[in-house]
Amino acid sequence: DREVGHATAEGLLAMAASGDTGVRRPDYKTLDAYRAEGGYTMWDRVKSGELTHQEVLDRLGSASLRGLGGAGFPTGKKWGFVRAYPAPRLMTINGDEGEPGTFKDRYHLERDPHPMFEGALIGAHVVGAERCYVYMRDEYPAVLQILRDEIAALEAAGISEPGFFELRRGAGAYICGEESAMIESIEGKRGLPRHRPPFIAEVGLFGRPTLNNNVETLYWVPKVLEKGPEWFASQGREGHPGMRSWSVSGRVRNPGVKLAPAGVTIRELIEDHCGGMAEGHSFKAYLPGGASGGILPASEADVPLDFGGRLAELGSFVGSHAIVVFSDKDNMRDVALNLLDFFTHESCGQCTPCRSGTEKLGKLLRTQGPLDEEAIRDIEQVMRDASICGLGQAAPNPVNHLLTHFREDLK
Ligand code: SF4
Repeated sequence: DREVGHATAEGLLAMAASGDTGVRRPDYKTLDAYRAEGGYTMWDRVKSGELTHQEVLDRLGSASLRGLGGAGFPTGKKWGFVRAYPAPRLMTINGDEGEPGTFKDRYHLERDPHPMFEGALIGAHVVGAERCYVYMRDEYPAVLQILRDEIAALEAAGISEPGFFELRRGAGAYICGEESAMIESIEGKRGLPRHRPPFIAEVGLFGRPTLNNNVETLYWVPKVLEKGPEWFASQGREGHPGMRSWSVSGRVRNPGVKLAPAGVTIRELIEDHCGGMAEGHSFKAYLPGGASGGILPASEADVPLDFGGRLAELGSFVGSHAIVVFSDKDNMRDVALNLLDFFTHESCGQCTPCRSGTEKLGKLLRTQGPLDEEAIRDIEQVMRDASICGLGQAAPNPVNHLLTHFREDLK
């Protein structure tokens, strides 16, 4: 994003002095272009009362729209919960997108940012939120610039009230993608996940009931309302309603964000959406849900990728739909260690099972000779049972799958 590859210190200082941030902003659909295509029509209908709160909740529920930041909680149900708590209420948009391998929110925002804004206005109206904080990772400078410009355009056009959207920059901590840590961060504190209950729907940002949605979740909201819940639900495979944005990377010919049905398989993603495996590589394994969802072998290539179901039986999950593909050139012990090192580095450190467990698992996996599997299983269990948040609970997944599916890579 920043042309700093060949920049000299003098060049960077000159850029800073001139106000040139060096950010290359991609061409994207501006407010005018979005409105010319009928954008903000659904917001007008909701705001005017033509579409009631209950109708919005019913449509989101019938569409089976779920939170696409990773948790998969039903969107309409979440909006209903927040609305039921007493005002004043707030809203947050989680654009931290820190799960390794995930870049779908960036993809949408760099092309078409307004469906998210329209979805947010609708969500805030339905739950009665007074303000909306947009938490965006600082590693996306082009997105930040787009959001700044388009928030100003929305205010100038009278679509949003001045100050309704407030942009906050995340500083690169993975844990701030966890919603309660994100809220701590917006409040100006260290990003430490909170104990629950109470959940943020009841006691969230600045102690108020808070609606938090992921960028892509909101992106789909105007489309679901406009085209109808049946349209959205029918995009998915049988038993897996909806369309999803899959971030696919690794040993494939054409990596990138692929729009594909909920319930698609890795075999289909590789063959039908990514042009097959990269030259000279044969499919060996994949991460179905970024760093957190574990590592599955090629023998599980026909598992429908969606929340719950067979993936859950395999001790895995689809999370933020980040797929990383590995080949016969990759060693899964190295992969598991890489993921563990990531979790060790990103653990916020406030609870011992996670802070100490991630480090100890890494040490045990690095030992020469036979692994102490009993100790590994013991630590895994303590981490799952006693970690405060999902980071510590999911961190053992790659190790667990390494021992279950890839024993040949331990030699
Ligand atoms: Fe922090 Fe890890 Fe505990 Fe989560 S599980 S609160 S990241 S130490």
